[in-house]
Amino acid sequence: MPRLSQADLSNLNHNFEERTPEELIQWAWLTFGEKLAALSAMQESGNVICHMIHRLNLDIPVLFVDTGVMFQETLATRDRLAAEYKLNFRTLQPEQSMEEQTEQYGVLYLSPEGQEKCCHMRKVEPLQSVAGEYQAIISSLRRADGGRRGNNPILTLDVEMNSLRINPLANFSNEQMQAYIEEHRVITNPLHKQGYATISCNRCTTPVMPGEPKRAGRWRHLGPWSMYCGINPTDMQDPTHNYIELPQDAINRILGIENDFMI
Ligand code: SF4
Repeated sequence: MPRLSQADLSNLNHNFEERTPEELIQWAWLTFGEKLAALSAMQESGNVICHMIHRLNLDIPVLFVDTGVMFQETLATRDRLAAEYKLNFRTLQPEQSMEEQTEQYGVLYLSPEGQEKCCHMRKVEPLQSVAGEYQAIISSLRRADGGRRGNNPILTLDVEMNSLRINPLANFSNEQMQAYIEEHRVITNPLHKQGYATISCNRCTTPVMPGEPKRAGRWRHLGPWSMYCGINPTDMQDPTHNYIELPQDAINRILGIENDFMI
């Protein structure tokens, strides 16, 4: 199968820096059609992506990983988005309930090694259960989130999913995002207003104090060793030497070789 490397994407990534998030979502839809999905954890940036898909009236399914220990507010946010934005959510779940997992492995999220294993079983594996179905996945990583996301390209590779990852909000500033949310009254997770800067499982997420980094509320009980769950591959590894395998016609469409679609 033909390979697509991160280096192959460098020109496209350079050109895409000037494009709006909506233009990038349109490009993704025209390039991948039904082989395209979005991924949202019901946090601000993911909800902005959901609103853009709704506003553009595109039939892009939204993947949501329900670990079984999500906040009720998060599940209610998904349900509101589905009802009010008419989005097609595909909820993915781990094989074991948290009770079954705890019975077999103990309380994993109380140590850095256990957290890695728990996140893998409850987040990464459910997403990987649909590997091969989508050639591209729209994610909502922003460079303004800092940390390992500070230099994230718009287009990256997800080797485990064998998919292109598209981050239309990569260069969206905090100010731009808040302005978009206010202007369009985007449905957001009510936990943000209760001090939760980022939101994941109820076992491992706390509010942050003024002045703390946004991700300080994630795995606070583990200290600085646990920062990311692994569901976004660029959080975990340098993508420079990675490649994915796609049909030649898909690679041609991505690189603009067979069509004259220019945005
Ligand atoms: S965030 Fe915590 S509870 Fe959720 S999957 Fe990761 S370690 Fe497990």
